[in-house]
Amino acid sequence: MKHLTPPPRLLMGPGPINCYPRVLSAMSTQLIGQYDPVMTGYMNEVMSLYRDVFVTKNQATLLIDGTSRAGIEAVLVSCIEPADKVLVPIFGRFGHLLKEIAERAGADVHCIEATWGEVFEPEQIEDAIKRVQPKVLALVQGDTSTTMLQPLEHIGEICRRHDVIFYSDATASIGGNPFETDKWQLDAVSVGLQKCLGGPSGSAPITLSERYVELVRGRQHIEAGIKAEHHNPGSGSRIRSNYFDIPMILDYWGEERLNHHTEATSMLYCARECAINLLEEGVDDSIARHELHGNAMLAGIQGMNLKPFGDLKHKMNNVVGVYIPDGVDGEQIRQQLLLDFNIEIGTSFGPLHGKIWRIGTMGYNARQDTVLHTLQSLETLLRRAGHTLQPGQAIDSAFTVYNGKG
Ligand SMILES: *Cc1c(COP(=O)(O)O)cnc(C)c1O
Repeated sequence: MKHLTPPPRLLMGPGPINCYPRVLSAMSTQLIGQYDPVMTGYMNEVMSLYRDVFVTKNQATLLIDGTSRAGIEAVLVSCIEPADKVLVPIFGRFGHLLKEIAERAGADVHCIEATWGEVFEPEQIEDAIKRVQPKVLALVQGDTSTTMLQPLEHIGEICRRHDVIFYSDATASIGGNPFETDKWQLDAVSVGLQKCLGGPSGSAPITLSERYVELVRGRQHIEAGIKAEHHNPGSGSRIRSNYFDIPMILDYWGEERLNHHTEATSMLYCARECAINLLEEGVDDSIARHELHGNAMLAGIQGMNLKPFGDLKHKMNNVVGVYIPDGVDGEQIRQQLLLDFNIEIGTSFGPLHGKIWRIGTMGYNARQDTVLHTLQSLETLLRRAGHTLQPGQAIDSAFTVYNGKG
């Protein structure tokens, strides 16, 4: 077996993307014991750092070990009891994922759907809430499958009025688009590291409101082998997953330090570094950077006579969908970009499969050099494939944005 030497790819798809170098270094830091005071200190630091990332005062802010969907599963399986009603507005692939996870948790799931490339008006969501009367609303913020960003700022107030638990998956959007947990009155949020936070996949930061925590504490059932006399069983039904049992995970991250899983130390190092990196730059400055490079990429795409996908008013800053032009083999272009130029861009799913590429500008790769290299390379391949364009216009259009004239 050869030594591990992956090619030096530039990952310009919808995630994962190249890690910040400091995050990679954090991952190769030596392990310490699970209850070493230094380790529990790091856990407390992570909680505090992610409160600033999520813009919240929620005490219950911590990591679920696993990729982003581990965070989704933990939030949903811990609060859904069989036959509970859950409303999922679907505007892309990840809405379908929330639906499926809620169904597997035993929920009675109701959906409304938007055409891919569009988002929901708050009134549409409120109408559905009135009709369905769900216990939980599960809504994606940024869905990379369509590149759309669902506005959330008015949804929390609607949920409070109708006594609905409001959960959002902000995996793809956090750090690159505005997100305000407390101001927008969210009860639960889950994310991952591999999009705008610029880390590897494998850790899912979550934050939970007091209202959510109170709800799931009612279902507390501690494992027999670690249960002590002062632990009272909850009255609700037992949470159907041990690994994703949030009350038990809270007791592990909380003062009691009651043993649950063995924390994934290397991933905790990464998650900690991702948050420090974001907060040193400043959340607002990071969002502005994603907006700038996203706009430059969009201008460059339009400059090479390509059409962007979806309602641009609601496009996420960090990813753009691009119609594959007529007469061009989309998969062949992607393969040439990868093998000849070492640049990866994304394909697409479901109704968009074979119709659009998805190009990301996120985290460490939201930079001018990566945008220009990607545009120049794609333009070259499209020109050689016979697509009509004006050579040089893509880069000129991107520079117009960088020179503040976009
Ligand atoms: C990319 C993405 C995920 C990724 O989930 P993983 O389990 O980390 O693969 C989840 N949700 C959304 C909205 C995403 O865009």
